[in-house]
Amino acid sequence: MKLNENQETLLQIKNCQKSYKKDNSSELVVLDNVNLTLKKGEIVGLLGRSGSGKSTLLRIIAGLTPPSKGKVTWKNQLLSGPAKGIAMVFQSFALFPWLTVQDNVQLGLEAKNTPHDQMEKLSEEAIDLIGLGGYEKAYPKELSGGMRQRVGLARALVVHPDLLLMDEPFSALDVLTAENLRTDLIELWVEKKLPVKSILIVTHSIEEAVLMCDRLLIFSTNPGTIAHELKVTFPHPRNREDPAFRQFVDRIYILMTHRNPIKVDPNNIDIEQTLTNNYVALPKMSMNLMIGMMETLYAEPYCGRADLPQLAKSLQMELDDLLPIGETLQLLEFADMAEGDIILTELGKKLVNSELDVRKDIFMKSLIKNIPLIRSIRSILDERTNHRASAERFRDELTDNMSPNAARQTLSTIIGWVRYAELFDFDEESEQFFLDEDDKKIEKD
Ligand code: ADP
Ligand code: MG
Repeated sequence: MKLNENQETLLQIKNCQKSYKKDNSSELVVLDNVNLTLKKGEIVGLLGRSGSGKSTLLRIIAGLTPPSKGKVTWKNQLLSGPAKGIAMVFQSFALFPWLTVQDNVQLGLEAKNTPHDQMEKLSEEAIDLIGLGGYEKAYPKELSGGMRQRVGLARALVVHPDLLLMDEPFSALDVLTAENLRTDLIELWVEKKLPVKSILIVTHSIEEAVLMCDRLLIFSTNPGTIAHELKVTFPHPRNREDPAFRQFVDRIYILMTHRNPIKVDPNNIDIEQTLTNNYVALPKMSMNLMIGMMETLYAEPYCGRADLPQLAKSLQMELDDLLPIGETLQLLEFADMAEGDIILTELGKKLVNSELDVRKDIFMKSLIKNIPLIRSIRSILDERTNHRASAERFRDELTDNMSPNAARQTLSTIIGWVRYAELFDFDEESEQFFLDEDDKKIEKD
C-alpha cells in the first residue's frame, strides 16, 4: 500500500504528555512530547520496550484516559472520551465467557443502536471475514486462543471503525497461531477487505512490525517519546528471509539498543556523592540468566559475538527478554552491544573461563565498580559497628527517581547479586542489609 501524503488525516496528536501521581505526591512522567499523525490507508506500528508507554498512548487515543498535557484531534475535532470510529483489540481477549461468539461480536454494535436485523447481518459478515464461520453459537471456552483472538478482532471490526487500535494482539498466542492470524490480517488488509481505514498496532516484536506496517514509530523509554520514525516500503507479501528485510530488522535493533552506557567514576567512593548516582533501575536478572547468556555467547557458533536478531531467534527469546540481559552485561562490563551485535568483553570471557570462586571475585569487583548503590550500601555496612543498615532509606532514595515497583525490583535484583558475590546479605525479616563474617573483604587498590 502506497502512503499517500495527500490522504486525509484521521488523528493528530500534539505535544502529548501523560504523568501519573506517585505515592509521595511527585509525578511519574510516562509519556512526554509525543507527536503523531495518522492518515487514512496506512498501518502504523508502535515499537518500544516494555514500560515505554505504548499502551498508555493507545488508551489515550481510544479515549479511555485523557492526556495530562497536549492535544488529541480526531477527524478535526478535539478528542474527549471514546470516539465514534475508533475500535480497540486488546492483548488479552476480553471476551465474555457467558456469551456466544456471535453475542460477543454483536456487543461491539450495542452502543450504536443498530437495528436488530442489521446487527445480525453485520456480525455474521465480521465473523465470516475473520474465518470463524460456523462458530457463531460457540462459547469462548470451546475455542482455542487463536480463535478467541479472532472473536476479539471481529468485535472490533463489526463497527467498521475508521481506526483499529491493536495492543500487542498476538503476544498471548503461540508462535504458529500468531503467524497465521497475522498473515490472514495482512492479506485482508492488502486485498482491501478489512472494513477499516487505518490501523495502529503496538508490538514489541520488530519482525512483526516490519512484516505488517507501512510506517514505524520507535519509542524510547523514560519518559516514553517517539525517538525514530521509519517508512517500510517492501511490497506485500513480505519475505522475512529477504536480505533487505533482514537488514532493515537489524537497523531497528540498532536504533533500539543505542543507549548511552551509564558511567560512574570508580575512584569516587564518596557516599553522599554516589547516592545521587544511584538511580539506575535494574531489571529482574538472575545470575543464572547472565552466566547462561555469557556461556552461550562464548561457545560456538557465536565464539564471543552474536547478531542480536539471530540470537533472539535461536534462543526463541523476545527482544524484551534479550535486551535487558545485554544491557545488564554491558553495565557490568561483561559485554558490549554495538551495531546490532552483542560482544563478550575480555572480562566476560575471563569470567566464563573461571572456576566458581574466581567468578564470584570478578563479579564482586564489577558490582563495586559499576553499581554505585551496591558500593554505598557496602561502605555504610563497613563503617557501622553492628554492620547492619535498614533497606528503607535506600528504597526511598530509589523511589524518588523511579516507580515503587521499579525500586522494589532493583533492590531485589541487587540482593540476588550481592549474595552470589558474597559482598553482603539481606535479612528479609528485619529488612536490613548486613555483613556476614564470611563476606569478602574489599581490597583497596
Ligand atoms: P508499555 O505498554 O509500553 O509496556 P505502559 O503504557 O503500560 O507501557 O506503561 C508505561 C509506564 O506507565 C509504566 O511504568 C507503568 O508502570 C506506568 N503506568 C501505566 N498505567 C499507570 C497507572 N494507571 N498508574 C500509574 N502508573 C501507570
Ligand atoms: Mg503495553
